[in-house]
Amino acid sequence: MQDFEFDLFVVGGGSGGVRAARMAAQRGARVALVEGGAMGGTCVNVGCIPKKLYSYAAHYGEGFAEAQGFGWTVQAPTFDWATLKANRAREISRLNGVYAQLLHKTGVQVIEGWAQVAGPHSVAVNGQVHHARHLLVATGGRPVVPDIPGREHVITSDDIFDLSPFPQRLLVVGGGYIACEFASIFNGLGAQVTQLYRGGQVLRGFDDEVRDFVAAQMRGHGVDLRVNADVAAIERTSVGLQVRLADGGLISADAVLYATGRAPHTQGLGLAEAGVSLNAQGAIEVDEHYRSSVPSIYAVGDVIAKVQLTPVALGEAMVVVDQLFGPLAGQAARHLSYDFIPTAVFTHPSIGTVGWSEAQARERFGAIRVYCSEFKALKHTLSGSSERTLMKLIVDDASDRVVGLHMVGDEAGEIVQGFAVAMKAGATKAVFDATVGIHPTAAEEFVTMREVSRR
Ligand code: FAD
Ligand code: NDP
Repeated sequence: MQDFEFDLFVVGGGSGGVRAARMAAQRGARVALVEGGAMGGTCVNVGCIPKKLYSYAAHYGEGFAEAQGFGWTVQAPTFDWATLKANRAREISRLNGVYAQLLHKTGVQVIEGWAQVAGPHSVAVNGQVHHARHLLVATGGRPVVPDIPGREHVITSDDIFDLSPFPQRLLVVGGGYIACEFASIFNGLGAQVTQLYRGGQVLRGFDDEVRDFVAAQMRGHGVDLRVNADVAAIERTSVGLQVRLADGGLISADAVLYATGRAPHTQGLGLAEAGVSLNAQGAIEVDEHYRSSVPSIYAVGDVIAKVQLTPVALGEAMVVVDQLFGPLAGQAARHLSYDFIPTAVFTHPSIGTVGWSEAQARERFGAIRVYCSEFKALKHTLSGSSERTLMKLIVDDASDRVVGLHMVGDEAGEIVQGFAVAMKAGATKAVFDATVGIHPTAAEEFVTMREVSRR
């Protein structure tokens, strides 16, 4: 049998790649990881983490105003974008170091540079070719901007964290996670935000009631959210960007953020030459073991474009490692099920959701019961905010199992994470009903909804 320099060579030091490299090395494998950009990938550098830090920053804006209802007097607060950017950069570079250290401690050989797959067992980087028994491609994705006149004037989520100066007038194009989150964040930080979505309602794929509700709440907070709207052309003028809309309207902006989806990062990687099949969108095609059309090459995370979330990339990486090098002593080999993956959209207010939407559940289960509750959270009885909360349960009539749980409100992600465990375990509505609430919380509503809203 051919002797290889490494047992596993990982291309990409993001969520999936770092997890796979570290766990394989913990099992005694000889592992190398190559990263061309900053260690930690999208999530750490230009995704989940800096985005959530900016979301916290944005919440303070309304927090100061709301504090007055509770008796606080606050001098007119001012916001310093430069301070937020610098503090974020410091924290992210600390995390880059933590990731590098974790790899170093487990004995992973880290190589800096942009790699190319040079064959079923070969990776070329910095003019050198390395050989490994298995390759793992975890190169993630990158933002896609459609070909519109003036495309060169727009920015993507990769650019927004360090934007200078602060965009007093921000135009956001798109209606997915990134567009809605950044519209909320920059609105909260004090920008005048217009968001354009080409379809009838933002967040396609989410529960329709949740979509309508969050759109109304975002508007209530001050985002000028326009649907059935799109950009025709963008021009730079002496007073900023002039954006001509498809309906003939005109918007002036300091920055235009395109959040119109992401494409798998497979171009120029040498994959096709190595015999790795890609689908029409450029994602690596893998089987249920994350193995590509070349048996020694595996792929996980955004580059396979199944579910583009960090915990999913981590889960996929761990499945691959258990398969290749065995589980840790006393543990069973991992398997990742794509059912009941919880997710949050960090809009203001945020969305937390797990399971099926009402429409999907109706189609899948036929007879369902829907329990809905919409209310003003206790905090807002004094805060002066008109923000409202939505909670919704969807129950399969035949089994009584709760198959969909959705929330729009404060800390929705924190609340829904716990309920996701119950739903994964198959909890029925009777179990929800038998669970004692924690009072006074918003979350208790999920265990006290008794009236069926509709069938
Ligand atoms: P990545 O993290 O993208 O890592 C890929 C790495 O490969 C990169 O570091 C890249 O530089 C490197 N690379 C690429 N090509 C090469 C090459 N040829 N040679 C060497 N290195 C290479 N998910 C959540 O779960 N929660 C969130 O709140 C959330 N927020 C997000 C916010 C934004 C703005 C964005 C863009 C994404 C967000 N995501 C979130 C999604 C999440 O970031 C991704 O699903 C996750 O990072 C995917 O991990 P990955 O390992 O597949 O790829
Ligand atoms: P999404 O796929 O979620 O949304 C893309 C949006 O852009 C959709 O509203 C889409 O409209 C619209 N769009 C696509 N093409 C065009 C076009 N040519 N012109 C105008 N609009 C267009 O992608 P994102 O970029 O927002 O996010 C990528 C992924 O990253 C997410 O799907 C998610 O998995 C992950 N992510 C997760 C986060 C979290 O967990 N909180 C946060 C951020 C990202 P239409 O619906 O009509 O197709």
